[in-house]
Amino acid sequence: MYAVDFDYYRAGSLADAQKLLGDHPGAKLLAGGHSLIPLMKLRLAAPPAVVDIGRVAELRGVTLSGAAVRIGALTTHTELAASADLGRAAPALAETAAQLGDPTVRNRGTIGGNIAHADPASDLPTVLVALDARINVVGPSGHRTIDAAKFFTGLMTTSLEENEIVTSIDVPVAQPGRGSAYVKFSHPASRYAVIGAAAAITLSGGTCSSVSVAIGGLVAHARRLPSVERALTDQAPSESVVAKAAAAVAADLGRDVSGDIFASAEYRTAVAPVYVKRALLAAAARASAR
Ligand SMILES: Cc1cc2nc3c(=O)[nH]c(=O)nc-3n(C[C@H](O)[C@H](O)[C@H](O)COP(=O)(O)OP(=O)(O)OC[C@H]3O[C@@H](n4cnc5c(N)ncnc54)[C@H](O)[C@@H]3O)c2cc1C
Repeated sequence: MYAVDFDYYRAGSLADAQKLLGDHPGAKLLAGGHSLIPLMKLRLAAPPAVVDIGRVAELRGVTLSGAAVRIGALTTHTELAASADLGRAAPALAETAAQLGDPTVRNRGTIGGNIAHADPASDLPTVLVALDARINVVGPSGHRTIDAAKFFTGLMTTSLEENEIVTSIDVPVAQPGRGSAYVKFSHPASRYAVIGAAAAITLSGGTCSSVSVAIGGLVAHARRLPSVERALTDQAPSESVVAKAAAAVAADLGRDVSGDIFASAEYRTAVAPVYVKRALLAAAARASAR
C-alpha cells in the first residue's frame, strides 16, 4: 500500500529540525525510516509532513567521556556494533546491536529511532534500562535528561513531549567487577525479541553488590525486575541462587504479560525465568572476569 500524501523536509541541523517541527504541526521525524515508513505504508500513521534528520551530522557518533559513553541518536546499529569504545564501555549494548534484525535493518536503523518508536519487541530499550542509561532530549522547552527506566511508559509510548527530539543517550562505563549481558528468544524471521532479558551485576568479594535486570518483548515496555534484583543482591551468584532469583520474575510480571500470534502469554510467562537466569549468569561470569 502507498502512504497517504505527505510533505517532505530535510533538516540540515538540529536547530533546523526543531524549526521544521514547530512550523509543521503533526510532522514526524524520519531517521532510518525502518519503523516509520512501514507504519505509513500500512496507513497506521499518516503524518502531514516528515522531517528527515538522516543527514544531521551532530546527532551521529559514539564518544567516550569519563564515566559515560555518549551515543548520538542517529548512530546506526551497525555503528554501535562496530564501536570499539562502546565494546569496552558497554559490551552488552554493542553485542545487542550486532544481533538485531538483519544487515539492512542494522545499516539504516538508528538508536534514537529505535527507542522513540518504543516497540515492545525491540532489544535496545531492555538493555538501556538494565544499564541505567540516560536519554538526552531537546524540545520547545529546552534540554532535559530522562532515565531510561522512565523513558518507556507504555505500548509504543514514551515520555517524549510534543516536538521533542532525542539527541543522545549516555551509558555508564562498566567499572572493574561489573559485567553485563543480554539474551533473547528472537523471532526467527525479524529477529525481534519474543522475550529479551538484560542484566548488569557488580561483584564485590564474590557477592553481588549491585544487580540490575530488565525484561522486554513480553510486556508493553522494557522494565526493571525489582523482585529478581532483591533476591540476588548480597548473594554469591551460584547457579542455584541465580535460578531461585530468576524465578521471582513471576512476581514482577504479575498479569502484565502479552500474548500474540508468535507466543501466548502463558508460554512467555513460563519461559521468562529461563532467559532471566541466562542473562544473570552471563553477566555474573563477565563480572568475575573483569
Ligand atoms: C524487518 C525488521 C526487523 C527488525 N528487527 C529488529 C530487532 O530484532 N530488534 C530491534 O530492536 N529492532 C528491530 N527492528 C527495528 C529497527 O531496529 C529500527 O531501529 C527501528 O525500526 C527504528 O529506527 P529508525 O532509525 O529506522 O527510526 P524511524 O523509522 O525513522 O523512526 C521511528 C520513530 O521514531 C521517531 N524518531 C526517530 N528518530 C527520532 C529522534 N532522534 N527523536 C525523536 N523521535 C525520533 C520517528 O518520528 C518515528 O516515530 C527491525 C525493523 C525491521 C524493519
